[in-house]
Amino acid sequence: MAKSPSTPIHLIVMLLVTCFLCTVGKSNALTCPLPPELATKLHVDPVAVDSASTDYGNIVHSKPAAVLYPSSVEDIQSLVRSSYNCPIPFGISVRGNGHSVNGQDMARDGVVVDMKSLRENKHGIKIRVSKNHLFADVGGEQLWIDVLHTTAAQGLSPVSWTDFLYLSVGGTLSNAGISGQTFLHGPQISNVYELDVITGNGELLTCSKRNNSDLFDSVLGGLGQFGIITRARIALRSAPAKVRWSRAFYSNFSDFIIDQERIVRGGQRDVANYLEGSLVLDNGTPTEWITSFFPPTQLPQIMSLVKKYGIIYCLELTKYYFVDDTESEIDQDLQQVFKDFAHIPGFIDAKFVSHQEFLTRVPNVENESQTHPWQNLFIPKSRISDFNLGVLREIVLKRNITTGPVLFYPMNRHKWDAKSSAVIPDEDIFYTTSFLHASGIDNWQVYDDQNKAVIRFCEEAGIKIVKYLADYTTMEEWIEHFGSKWTTFRERKAQYDPKNILSPGQKIFNSI
Ligand code: FAD
Repeated sequence: MAKSPSTPIHLIVMLLVTCFLCTVGKSNALTCPLPPELATKLHVDPVAVDSASTDYGNIVHSKPAAVLYPSSVEDIQSLVRSSYNCPIPFGISVRGNGHSVNGQDMARDGVVVDMKSLRENKHGIKIRVSKNHLFADVGGEQLWIDVLHTTAAQGLSPVSWTDFLYLSVGGTLSNAGISGQTFLHGPQISNVYELDVITGNGELLTCSKRNNSDLFDSVLGGLGQFGIITRARIALRSAPAKVRWSRAFYSNFSDFIIDQERIVRGGQRDVANYLEGSLVLDNGTPTEWITSFFPPTQLPQIMSLVKKYGIIYCLELTKYYFVDDTESEIDQDLQQVFKDFAHIPGFIDAKFVSHQEFLTRVPNVENESQTHPWQNLFIPKSRISDFNLGVLREIVLKRNITTGPVLFYPMNRHKWDAKSSAVIPDEDIFYTTSFLHASGIDNWQVYDDQNKAVIRFCEEAGIKIVKYLADYTTMEEWIEHFGSKWTTFRERKAQYDPKNILSPGQKIFNSI
């Protein structure tokens, strides 16, 4: 019988892979043999390794031993099983789209699964829309931008989004997925019906609120610790015909938050379907964020307001229209919404855009010469004025180094499922703030210093902030972060990933 011509090459690659992985458990000189079908999909070359050693933050760089480019869910399952069955298992991280900012998607000396190859593979789940049942079955590797386009083609849409859509479904569901719709619909993790998950022992399980509910709850917001999401069933509703998108300025912080909270408390679609807020700081030229929205004639006035007050606050809201109302009717609506608000008179602008145009408002820009020392926090409402004085005025304004947008808006605790792994403050209303700094390769430390000063101030003032997309590096810090959720988190880790294989880049069960 003729031998398969591929056998010798196959064996060589296998040997290389096996030998490379010898170094994974070097101290024990153990090997982790891998199934032959992975041989050509596991790359150990510098290009592959380097690409998996960086992320959007461009600050943490951890080299994996190898990168898996899967062409199927089974490939990922085989890899996890190989590690599980190995005497010294190796760590496995999933790189959804590499938009972490602190190495959360890396696996030092382990294997990174690059989901891009699954996305680009013709076979597999992709995005399937059920118009009758109002859901989409979406591969965990898919980007939200593609979920938008596919569902919009059927006149449908998910209800909860992120501001930026070049993020993977598995990546945001491992965190929470927040934006201006969160106050009304909860984060993305509150809008999922079912998941397929590969657990840390290589089992592929379907879970939902009714079936394997412990796994379902753990995985949502679970920082990749319990399983690899390979499919998510996402809730859909009718997509609006158009969106009225408006922004108004405030010089006074109290007025700004009172008006934001009126919308959030009402939680009513007839006022707003989306609510965010942001800060405009007196640090030079207006950012693209302002220049792209307000007419050029208004910019000098806006900048003189910023000079006068140091910080001005911008409330941003949209309202969705499902039938093609005339724009004058919509204008009357707008006046109605803002009539009792305390914004600066005359500084309000609104435009009409399509739903897709609104959701794609943040462009996909990659700049490898930048670093992103970001900080995202949740702040309890009861201490928001202290946060304004101590952080925004005393630290952020005085240091005057902030670059990039600073977001600031409230959400409702009751829209978050208490059983998910996500951690939020223990108050009915809490705020999120995001300092989205962009810095050069060598000067990110000044922003990092500012981030640390913010945390220090909150600790000293007893403001119980919670970090979103947290970057802790010791188990003690994580225990404090999870608070009353820690015991369940640890028990479920022992149940679903007993050998601590998954998502080592989060540094929870493998502190540095
Ligand atoms: P990655 O960075 O690749 O992975 C993140 C974590 O999830 C890692 O631990 C990884 O191992 C794990 N993971 C990835 N895929 C899976 C999977 N299939 N199964 C299990 N675990 C998995 N967040 C918001 O909530 N709202 C926003 O508006 C928002 N905007 C952003 C804009 C930009 C420009 C950037 C850089 C980030 C933004 N984020 C936002 C944060 C973003 O949601 C997280 O960083 C998210 O993790 C990035 O998605 P990703 O697909 O690139 O995940």
